[in-house]
Amino acid sequence: MASLATERQLPSVDVIRPFQLDHAGLRGRFVRLGPAAATILSRHAYPDPVSRLLGEVLVLGTTLAAALKFDGVFTLQMRGDGPVSLVVADYVSAAGKPGAVRGYAQFDKGKLERALAGGAAASVPRLLGNGQLVFTVDQGVQDRYQGIVALDGATIAECANAYFRDSEQIDTAIRLAAAPGGDGGWHAGALMVQRLPEAHPGEAALDDWRRVALLAASVSERELLDAGLNPDALLWRVFHEEGIRVYPAFGIEVGCRCTRERVENVLRSFPAEEIAGMAVDGRISVNCQFCNRAFDFDPGEVALAAP
Ligand SMILES: [Zn+2]
Repeated sequence: MASLATERQLPSVDVIRPFQLDHAGLRGRFVRLGPAAATILSRHAYPDPVSRLLGEVLVLGTTLAAALKFDGVFTLQMRGDGPVSLVVADYVSAAGKPGAVRGYAQFDKGKLERALAGGAAASVPRLLGNGQLVFTVDQGVQDRYQGIVALDGATIAECANAYFRDSEQIDTAIRLAAAPGGDGGWHAGALMVQRLPEAHPGEAALDDWRRVALLAASVSERELLDAGLNPDALLWRVFHEEGIRVYPAFGIEVGCRCTRERVENVLRSFPAEEIAGMAVDGRISVNCQFCNRAFDFDPGEVALAAP
């Protein structure tokens, strides 16, 4: 842990900066995605409201995963019965490596256009309808944790807040944003501070919490996203009176775990006649939903190999 004044200059993008506020005894994280968000979102080229949702889910997933201190896969999903049926981000952490993030969304173009006709606000209820927020922590076959709650809030930050409040009894101050930058590429940013439950919180502790939550709420969308503003400079501006100290930062990169073998195994799980029906001009072409990489198969090769 280091004081901000002595810390080396941090990258401004694709970075996770954990920190501690000594006066209040609280911990938090700042995350900003630059090239990683731009790469993932440009691959998919979704309409802006869907890109914004996925950008916020990517940066929220990264923020939550970074707190877990584990090697494995953290997945954050929003599912709904609205125009957008699924937004998913996952984050792989492995010792000594940058976190690897990926994500995609599923939506109905016609329903989306109708829902947003006349400039209606792209709120979570309008885009996703009734649905759930699903957290999965996967450290291998034996050790899997899943948390599921109903979507409850106009924004993704409000939904995350409701989850922590109702399911974990953790107060959370969270700011989230995703938007195209001046360079045309998408950026996403998150600032999160959490207060663990106490059996008998004193008035002083509650005052500390309220003060820090107000400071976190003062951070603007531009400050979350602006690659020209170093995260440490922002954290110092916001929390310098709170005795802020930072922990070592982590890098983030885009990663996908798709392989030809995995796609082939999925194909083999379909009945032979369905596999035959997938062929176009004698070939089956399957794209990875996360990274859009194309895998090309001979129908015979898949069907004949099936048990
Ligand atoms: Zn892939």
